[in-house]
Parts: sequence; structure tokens; C-alpha cells
Amino acid sequence: MKRRGLKLTGRMVIMAIVPIIILSIFLSAFIGYSSYRSIYDEVSHELSSVCVSVFELLGHSEQYKLSRYDYFDNNEDMFDGITQRTDIYITVFEGNERKITTTTNPDGSRAVGTKAAAEVVDTVLDGGEEFFSDNVDVNGSAFFGFYMPVTEGGEVTGMVFAGKSRETVMNIIVSSIIGSLVLSWLAALAAAFISVLVARGMVGSLLSAAEFLKKISMGDTDCAAEEKLVTRGDEIGDMGRSAVKLQQALRTLISSDPLTGLYNRRACNIKMNELRAGAENEGTPFVAAIGDIDFFKRFNDNYGHACGDEVLKDVARHLRDGVGDKGFVSRWGGEEFLLIFAVPYAEAVEALKGIADNIREYRCEYDDMKLSVTMTFGISEYTGGTVDALVSSADDKLYYGKSHGRNCIIEDIPEACGEESG
Ligand code: GH3
Ligand code: MG
Ligand code: MG
Repeated sequence: MKRRGLKLTGRMVIMAIVPIIILSIFLSAFIGYSSYRSIYDEVSHELSSVCVSVFELLGHSEQYKLSRYDYFDNNEDMFDGITQRTDIYITVFEGNERKITTTTNPDGSRAVGTKAAAEVVDTVLDGGEEFFSDNVDVNGSAFFGFYMPVTEGGEVTGMVFAGKSRETVMNIIVSSIIGSLVLSWLAALAAAFISVLVARGMVGSLLSAAEFLKKISMGDTDCAAEEKLVTRGDEIGDMGRSAVKLQQALRTLISSDPLTGLYNRRACNIKMNELRAGAENEGTPFVAAIGDIDFFKRFNDNYGHACGDEVLKDVARHLRDGVGDKGFVSRWGGEEFLLIFAVPYAEAVEALKGIADNIREYRCEYDDMKLSVTMTFGISEYTGGTVDALVSSADDKLYYGKSHGRNCIIEDIPEACGEESG
């Protein structure tokens, strides 16, 4: 049972967690990709704007009739200022050669005179198109870079480059993603935790139901279902409540007599043994009285079996009402009843006398007839030994009563008995 429970718990936990993990992975990939794309577009736009601005400046240099490169030679500081403030590196190419630049060689010197990568030359100088990449190499350093062709008289004579260190951009991307990722994984963790709690609760209740049904199947009709099972508001709770009803139906079926509704002999023996244990351990009172309907056979013989059944049901009701909460009554067999009192002997005898009187006075109404019924009883107090011995002692007294006039209560043998009836 335990092994099965662990298996079920494991499965429920997997069912609860795996979809959350898969969802989180997809969500993280989506967050990562969309953040990267949006920053990629933003950087591309920003760098292209810077290129356009530099291009405009190139135009002005022409306007002032200065060699554009001489103009920038004199104003290189201006680009350095932009790079320092914005982290955007700027290069003006003459052909494929860096003429003015804020990019540097690996040794830290200004990368003037160095060349652009082959793919840039192909696209911008030869193809006359703009070029943007998130991973261009500038003298050994990786950049997000934008290249713009500079044309003179319809010919591409140079390029303008604006770029951001790839490391700087990646740091921006990571710091923008990290918050969303941490938040989404925390949410996933909380969802997984709640799912596991719910799954464990469900498995716990299912195991409780399985344990309860197992006990019932082993004949324990008195075991109690766990509170957590029967108080659930879901289908597992419904199952638990149905199991309790099943237990009650089974208990009634195996412990009661179908005709009279009294305890049957089997249930009576179990209950008597409980009382016996109480009498042995705590000295609680325990008295047994066995009663047999006098000349019962005549009801059957004279008025039919159905009449006999009617008498049995009426007598059972009188006995049960008479014993009340002092004990219980069982149908011991045929027309014999065992009355068990959990009260002191004198009180039990007093109650039994009242019961016998009531039965004597009552008339069973059957087919417009009013039939009188009497019973003979033997009564004994438990003073140790087995319950069989106690019943046997009461039975001996009943037998004595039967052979000494019936319609009486025998406490001790010999005892004088009353008139016969039937
Ligand atoms: P006594 O005073 O000596 O007890 O005589 P009695 O006629 O009551 O006893 P006896 O043992 O001769 O007859 C008992 C009858 O009870 C026999 C049996 O057919 C009948 N009986 C047993 N169980 C039932 C039942 O469930 N329904 C009916 N109608 N009769 C039953
Ligand atoms: Mg009888
Ligand atoms: Mg009998």
C-alpha cells in the first residue's frame, strides 16, 4: 500500500510540475527572444540615426568647401565626446579605410588606417546598401554595428559606421531579461509548490479512502473514515462519503436480523465480548437474559407463518423499547431473544419484569384477532468466565422455566413459575 502510495504521489507531482516546467522554459525563451529582438531593433535604429547625423555633417563639410576628411581631422574631439557620452563608436571611412574613428586597436591606439570586414565591403562599398549586424568585428572587438554608404556623384566613396560594443548591449539585454526571468521562475515555483500541495492532499485522501475500504473488506465495519476524507467537497470526498454509506449498509447487513431489525447472533457475540472486557477490566455491570416465546409454534400452526412473523416483530419492538439505553437486544435464534443489560443486576431484573408485563398485556392484532403472547426468561449476571457460559447459565434457567409452567422469569433454579398461556 505504501509503495503504491509513493508511486501515485510521484505521478501526481510529475503531472503537476512537468507542465509548469515546460511552460516556464517556453516563457523564458520567449521573454529572452522578444527582449533581444526589441533591443536589437532599438540599437539598429539608434545607430542608423547616428550614421545619418554624421552623414549630414559630411555634407556640411562639403558645403563649406573643405575637404571633408580634413574637416573631421580638425574636429575628431567632437566624435570622442559623443562616444564618451553615448558609448557609440563612430568611424568615417574613405573607401575601405578608417579615416576618422573613435574605435581603437587592441593596444588602445586609435584604429585609423585599418579596414572594414570583407562582408561589409561587399554590401556597403560594392553593393551600395546599408549594413547592420549584432556581431561585426572591429579590429578584434565585437560590435553591434551600422554601416552607411557615402556616395559622391552616384559612386560609393566611403562609409559611415556607428557601433556599440556587443558586450555593452548584451549587458543591457541580460539586465532587462533577468528581472522578467526571475519573476516568471518565481511564479512557476509558487505554482509548482501549490500544485504539489494540492496533489499531496489528493493523494493523502485517496490513500485514506483505500485504507478505509481495505479495513471494511477485512470485515471491520466499525472503523472510522478519516475526517480529511469525508469533509472534502470534491469527487474524492463523494467517494469517501459513499464508502461510509457502504460501511453502514454492510454493518446493517451483517449485524442485524432482517425480520426484526435487532442485532443478530454474530453481532451480539461481538458486543457481549466488549462488555465482558469492560466487566473484567473496569468492573462494569453485565447481565444477560434469554427469552423464548411460549408456544410460538401454535401461531404458525393456527394462523400461518405470516402471523408468526408479525408476533416476532411485535415482540422484538417491545423488547427493544423495554431495554432502551440500558443495553441491547438480539434475535438469538427462531423465537428466542437475548437481552443484554449494562446496568446492575437488580435494575436489569426490574426492567425485565416490566418488559414481561408489557408483553403479557399486549395483544397482537392479526386478521381481526387479538392474540396474547407470553414469554419465559432466564436471567444471569456476569461474574467471570466466558460469554458462552453466561448465556448457557441464563439458558438453563429458561429451560427450567419452560418445564415449570412458562410465562415467568427465572433468576435461580428452582423457582416457582406462573400460569401457562398461548
Ligand atoms: P415453547 O413454549 O416450548 O418454546 O414452544 P414453541 O412452540 O415456542 O417452541 P418450538 O421450538 O416447538 O417452536 C418454535 C417454532 O418457531 C418452530 C419454527 O417453525 C418457528 N420459527 C422459527 N423461526 C421463525 C420465523 O422466523 N418465523 C416464523 N413465523 N416462525 C419461526
Ligand atoms: Mg418457544
Ligand atoms: Mg425456542
